[in-house]
Amino acid sequence: MARKIQALRGMNDILPGQSSVWQYLENVVADVAKSYGYQQIRFPIVENTDLFKRGVGEATDIVEKEMYTFEDRNGESLTLRPEGTASCVRAADQAGLLFNQVQRLWYTGPMFRYERPQKGRYRQFYQIGLECFGMSSADIDAELIVLLARLWKKLGLLDHVELQLNTIGESSEREAYKAALVEYLTGFKDQLDEDSQRRLSTNPMRILDSKDVNTQAILDKAPSLEEFIGEESRAHFDRLQSLLTANGVSFVINRRLVRGLDYYSKTVFEWVTTHLGAQATVCGGGRYDGLVELLGGKPTPAVGFAMGIERLVLLLETLDLIPDEAKPSVDLFIVSFGEDAEVRSFVLAEEIRSHTNDLVVMRHCGGGNFKNQMKKANNSGARFTVILGQDEVDQGICQIKDMQTGEQETCSFDSVVAYVNTKF
Ligand code: ATP
Ligand code: MG
Repeated sequence: MARKIQALRGMNDILPGQSSVWQYLENVVADVAKSYGYQQIRFPIVENTDLFKRGVGEATDIVEKEMYTFEDRNGESLTLRPEGTASCVRAADQAGLLFNQVQRLWYTGPMFRYERPQKGRYRQFYQIGLECFGMSSADIDAELIVLLARLWKKLGLLDHVELQLNTIGESSEREAYKAALVEYLTGFKDQLDEDSQRRLSTNPMRILDSKDVNTQAILDKAPSLEEFIGEESRAHFDRLQSLLTANGVSFVINRRLVRGLDYYSKTVFEWVTTHLGAQATVCGGGRYDGLVELLGGKPTPAVGFAMGIERLVLLLETLDLIPDEAKPSVDLFIVSFGEDAEVRSFVLAEEIRSHTNDLVVMRHCGGGNFKNQMKKANNSGARFTVILGQDEVDQGICQIKDMQTGEQETCSFDSVVAYVNTKF
């Protein structure tokens, strides 16, 4: 036998049993986004490597060590998208949708990062993201967060996630803070964890994110970012908080939350859960007023977030929050015996599908005796089974069996649709 080829490490198949949960989640997100006027945008999975180098930032984990970058046959450097924001900006700007306009966009699809695969962390993973352009006030930051709170509520997750908020100010404020932080931490360089030592020269603010206990202890006495935040950023942050409070959305302020990407300014936020171990963040976002310009567009304020679908699916499964409607089911199973009945049942199945709403009608294909076909009907989990043999065809009727009670009723062909509609 030929050797079977396996999927790549960290790249998962979403199998039929699971895909219905994914669809449920994706549909709920799409509905909520639509109810706030967001429109979907789709962009390619592969882009010029420079887009992410510039858009995500050379000194980020993503660009330093996580990108799937390769040369195509022309020798051009291409990268499988590690995130959606840079591509979204590229696509929207290229289409002339950004300058002097307001846009509320959402996207979904696979992202690729070369990370160590573990629960909730994969090399191909899926995100749903929302991005807003052309609005600089804190109202839109608040709208995105309130929208997320609505989404968590719909999914039954609101009590299981916590909103963490911070402001990282304007880039000039951050530069001043970075300098102070580096000056302080340089005195403790030998005691920092390895990653943080490296980041001291490449991306010092990410040291605030370090999980290392020693590093965190050293940070306790470090200068605080808060002291460097200017008047306007502060007012923006205050307004965001009061809008959230007015809408009953609770949050905690985490002064060490900086997020991994270079391009954020002012608001940053994450929704975290205690149910998924180390992969605690299900959604992260923030304001990125400088990105459009950094990518060659006209200055355009922007804010957005991305959520990880795998982590949300894991969370829904862990908490047993998948509603019955989201599970695959069969409403009506149709069995038939003999050539005439097979043809008649085929036509009947189509008729039922045409005149009912959202019913799952499954017809047994390929013949077989009564016992076998009824076994298939049973295994399908259908609520009703429609049974047709030659006698039924001759009399223009069929039998309809209620699979829960075992009761069977006779129905004329003409009245099957009406009968089925009384049952569902
Ligand atoms: P982490 O700190 O967990 O690495 P991140 O800050 O790199 O997350 P973002 O780039 O902000 O993540 O992406 C937003 C969301 O996408 C994350 O909160 C998470 O839910 C999901 N995500 C990110 N990387 C992965 C991955 N490798 N596998 C699965 N989901 C991921
Ligand atoms: Mg990461």
